[in-house]
Amino acid sequence: MSTLIPEAERVETLVENINAIRARVQAAAQTAGSCPRLVAVSKLKPASDIQALYSAASQRHFGENYVQELVDKAASLPADVQWHFIGSLQSNKCATLAGIPNLYVVETVDALKKARRLNDARGDEMPVLNVFIQVNTSGEESKSGLAPGAEVVEVAKYIVESCPKLKLLGLMTIGSIARSKASGSEENEDFKSLVRQKIQVEQELEGVGELQLSMGMSEDFEEAIRQGSTNVRIGSVIFGSRPPKK
Ligand SMILES: *Cc1c(COP(=O)(O)O)cnc(C)c1O
Repeated sequence: MSTLIPEAERVETLVENINAIRARVQAAAQTAGSCPRLVAVSKLKPASDIQALYSAASQRHFGENYVQELVDKAASLPADVQWHFIGSLQSNKCATLAGIPNLYVVETVDALKKARRLNDARGDEMPVLNVFIQVNTSGEESKSGLAPGAEVVEVAKYIVESCPKLKLLGLMTIGSIARSKASGSEENEDFKSLVRQKIQVEQELEGVGELQLSMGMSEDFEEAIRQGSTNVRIGSVIFGSRPPKK
């Protein structure tokens, strides 16, 4: 497919960018001890960009925000791409999402009902679908996610006990970029809050094991890693700035 063949110059730029980010991730991880997964956030970017990083930089984890865009890209790109859905999750889109065979994880589960819909729609013949619970640590109205506390534990418990086609991987937050910037060299309160949530869920749900933390984006991933992130979602510093939302 011609639309999947990236221009040589674009390939070079993307590979340079992702290698620079990989180096920064590794450097930040050295003080933290663990090496987090780098999710390349490709929303609103052409499939040829993804193909370029797939072929020339062996990148496998990509993040997308819009269901139809993800459906289209998943159908045209290699089957071993590990897709992360990181957009705001609507109940009426859960079945479509769960039908994507190589969807690796839905990072934005923020209601019991949505967990149930994903679980019910995931075919018996398909691999178990990983999920993160999204927590609104900054309390901003514009952000999705459950408030920290009892509800997070309740939804986690529901996924572990009642959703055989889902696996709870961990917790996710976006956090406030303003707060990230304002904190300077200090710890970011939102990331701290997610770490506390993780500990609470692990303590209250026996046998859930060690949960992962999805936090950190282009502007604050190094701080997120220092605070224990195991999954960073990075878009603009790899792909360049995005066109305005559709
Ligand atoms: C767009 C997006 C990102 C990537 O943002 P950048 O600032 O471009 O790195 C990460 N997480 C979520 C949830 C997003 O919507």
